[in-house]
Amino acid sequence: MNIQAVEIARDHHTAHRDVGCRLCGSRLRHALVDLGMSPPCESYLQADQLDQMEPYYPLNVLVCDTCYLVQLKEYMSAETIFSEYAYFSSFSTSWVAHSKAYCEAITKRLGLGSDSLAVELASNDGYLLQHFLPLGVPVLGVEPAANVARVAEEKGVTTRVDFFGVRLANQMMAEGLDADLIIGNNVLAQVPDLNDFVAGIKILLKPEGVVTLEFPHIERLMAENQFDTIYHEHFSYFSLLTIDIMAARHGLRVIDVEELPTHGGSLRVYLAHEGGSWATEDSVTELLTREKRHGLTEMSTYASFGHKAQRAKRDLLAFLIAAKNEGKKICGYGAPGKGNTLLNYCAIGNDFLDFTVDRNPYKHGRFTPGMHIPIKPVEAIDEARPDYILILPWNLRDEIIQQMHHVAAWGAKFVVPIPFVTVIDPSELRK
Ligand SMILES: [Zn+2]
Repeated sequence: MNIQAVEIARDHHTAHRDVGCRLCGSRLRHALVDLGMSPPCESYLQADQLDQMEPYYPLNVLVCDTCYLVQLKEYMSAETIFSEYAYFSSFSTSWVAHSKAYCEAITKRLGLGSDSLAVELASNDGYLLQHFLPLGVPVLGVEPAANVARVAEEKGVTTRVDFFGVRLANQMMAEGLDADLIIGNNVLAQVPDLNDFVAGIKILLKPEGVVTLEFPHIERLMAENQFDTIYHEHFSYFSLLTIDIMAARHGLRVIDVEELPTHGGSLRVYLAHEGGSWATEDSVTELLTREKRHGLTEMSTYASFGHKAQRAKRDLLAFLIAAKNEGKKICGYGAPGKGNTLLNYCAIGNDFLDFTVDRNPYKHGRFTPGMHIPIKPVEAIDEARPDYILILPWNLRDEIIQQMHHVAAWGAKFVVPIPFVTVIDPSELRK
């Protein structure tokens, strides 16, 4: 991070100590969890950066008692985080398959064709929009990270390198681009100005157009103790209750919602213009009712989450300390953002993990932020033959265990840290 970004962050830290809700402006008076100080989780270091100072910011999560938006203060500007992004969606096979199934289903449901336009916000490397091309549906991606957008263009996915909001929506409308379908997958959490983003969607959407947004469900996050999915790059965490309030603020309406297993439990919400002709499905009222029953309108529900995170930290450390005392060799699998929250919160460094591996070559030869664990290609596991492999992207555990089943040959076991420590012996699973 450059000096200017550090100064911006410092200004935020002092000037916005008493901060208002990102969605509704109410004063934030309630905490979800305080995970201490942590470096930005996508700032992978090169060897020559290891002796330099790293910026650390609080991971202190607050919840709004008016709109229930769970949120972090924006310590780093979005420009700093996303202009050179290390995350390429296509490196997860199951995520690409999930996206393909979505494109086929939504094309049928909305009757999309050659005169339609599907726009994806934060379209990453074209992992999703590419599946519309064989269906004959024109697409346009909007992606702020130029290095990632380049990869999308190579796949034939037209991509604008820009941040989305009212400014860009107006510009696109002036060019005659309005959307039958607007897709936002795992972007809502990363939008610093939520109201500007949703107002932009309202502008760009055709009168009978549909928006689908996917995001991790705060209900699942709390129920399954996924505190590691909290990091500085994710400013906001949503329930359907919050989405409903957000939509209403901008003349939009939630017409359907689905629960998905992705990212530890996500929601896919469908929005349309408030006055449009789409019927509202029963699923919407049903989930809103369930969220209320599960206490998501009560501040005491949120307050109890911090103890669960502390318990998970103690359990993981107890396991790792016992394993090291027995002389076991441990490495990681994956170097996802969430892994860095976990490693930093629990202070798990080279004293526990010799190295971690990742399928993304961008990360090879780099080091995890804060804990400085070296990241190697996946083959490094076969060379080192560790006793335990700690799976950091636990949401992909089944995919990873299947791909790495051969480690059973030397008796290695997998360790999944969330929701609580679980040891999996691959020799006991069917291949
Ligand atoms: Zn609020």
